[in-house]
Amino acid sequence: MSRILARSRSAAKTWDSISQAALDFVFPWACQLCKCSDEESRRGAAGNFCFWCRMRLAPEIPHSCDRCGAALGPHSSAIRGCVHCRREPIRFDSLTCLGMYEDALRNAVLSTKWSLSTTGTASLSDLLFRARRQELCDYDADLVIPIPQSWQVRLRRRFNPASVIAEVLAKALGVRADEHVLRRRRHTRPQKRVSVQRRFDNQKNSFRIRDGHVVDGRRILLVDDVVTTGATCSEAARMLRRHGAKSCRVAVLARVLDGR
Ligand SMILES: [Zn+2]
Ligand SMILES: [Zn+2]
Repeated sequence: MSRILARSRSAAKTWDSISQAALDFVFPWACQLCKCSDEESRRGAAGNFCFWCRMRLAPEIPHSCDRCGAALGPHSSAIRGCVHCRREPIRFDSLTCLGMYEDALRNAVLSTKWSLSTTGTASLSDLLFRARRQELCDYDADLVIPIPQSWQVRLRRRFNPASVIAEVLAKALGVRADEHVLRRRRHTRPQKRVSVQRRFDNQKNSFRIRDGHVVDGRRILLVDDVVTTGATCSEAARMLRRHGAKSCRVAVLARVLDGR
């Protein structure tokens, strides 16, 4: 019996590599960012990005704040938060990000924001999972929830990046994504136009929960594309907790460090 199983597995493996070779012939692999397609760049590639772009988009962060995701210097303290978040009334427990909102990652996120296609966002989400797999898996989420857009924003954009990221992460983690449970109660002034100090007030009561039992007792992975002060995610986390969520970790593509 085990010999038959082993044979069928090896046949499936052979078939997979034949299919991959055929796909490569018809659609040769190329890095989504720099478009290089040589074998050397492909070696060590992560998903749709070559080795070098992967290193630029998701650099190693040797020391970061678990509460807000900020990259820190080797001697900075991150006990009960760091210099970037200690004074902020953040209501989520922790944050995972691909990197800081600068250089290559900033350009990549900006280029996907107004894109007509979800491909770029999905590729960055895939990279987020690959680069931060350990902490995302260790969190052991029950449910992935994207930050919803207001209908005013929905009219201007083709898609909600947070929903795309949530779908990719949920699939990779083997859990459900729910984009209906967290709803916008009102349109808020764009955070960019509000002073850093007032951003938490600006978000107050901006969300409501539909079907609270869905989040009751659950470990929630709350998803957005970019986080600045954390005010939006914090208010969403507050509402989720009020409806019984056990814990709330945030996952984003990029963390803005200077709060502007
Ligand atoms: Zn590349
Ligand atoms: Zn921090």
